Amino acid sequence: MQTANLHPPGVRKLIAEARGLGRRALAENASKQILSRYGLAVPRSAVIRSVEEIEPALGSLNAPFVLKLISPDLVHKSEAGGVRTNLANGAAVRDAMKGMRDQAASRRLGIDGYLLEETAPSGQEVVIGGVIDASFGPLVMFGLGGIFVEILQDVSYRICPITVLDAKEMIHELRAAPVLSGARGRAPASETLLIVALMAIGGPGGLLLDLADEIAEVDINPLIVSSSAIVAVDARLILAEGPAHETR
Ligand code: ADP
Ligand code: MG
Repeated sequence: MQTANLHPPGVRKLIAEARGLGRRALAENASKQILSRYGLAVPRSAVIRSVEEIEPALGSLNAPFVLKLISPDLVHKSEAGGVRTNLANGAAVRDAMKGMRDQAASRRLGIDGYLLEETAPSGQEVVIGGVIDASFGPLVMFGLGGIFVEILQDVSYRICPITVLDAKEMIHELRAAPVLSGARGRAPASETLLIVALMAIGGPGGLLLDLADEIAEVDINPLIVSSSAIVAVDARLILAEGPAHETR
């Protein structure tokens, strides 16, 4: 089934801004704003640029906080000290920010700002990805977070648009699927919420089909899913190369 492009409000603008800066990838905060326009939950957050901006931003957020470096030069933030979780208050956020600033300086990383966000409800980490394939068009990928994707390469793929049945099969064909239903004492993940998230990315009117002419890839790693919530806590959208655009 083909649907007309929806392009929810603001999506084109965020993409145009990134292109205007000559960026190939959208920053995490912009990527997450786009995900939320397609119906995925993301942590409540604020972008701040200095220690003076911490206290005003904390007023509208609930502890514990997470602070992340927003840098166009950094893909794996944790490897460069660019993610600090479990920050209890403004003082902890300030210390984390100073540490990040020093790390960034010593690695010569540019700083666009800091993403201050709420902690997602605890659960299991899963990954949803997508690419626009030259032969098949948009493909959606699903796997479990951490070693399951990175070392065991236990992932499932489908051509978009997917149906609810496809989404269900993508979950169950993983070798690690029993982990999601609560094997080994883990809290079970809601299958319904996983399906809703897969449809938001790979379904008719989902992000991949809707933005197939604009993006090359989406990587949501991870989403944290419990029995009652699914939240995308990290996201990266990579833009398609346009002839008129610089790459970075
Ligand atoms: P990286 O660029 O290193 O992949 P992430 O943004 O994925 O950075 O953060 C690293 C890890 O920190 C995540 O895999 C997740 O376990 C945890 N994390 C990040 N943001 C949050 C959040 N808002 N709530 C809970 N955990 C988070
Ligand atoms: Mg990540």
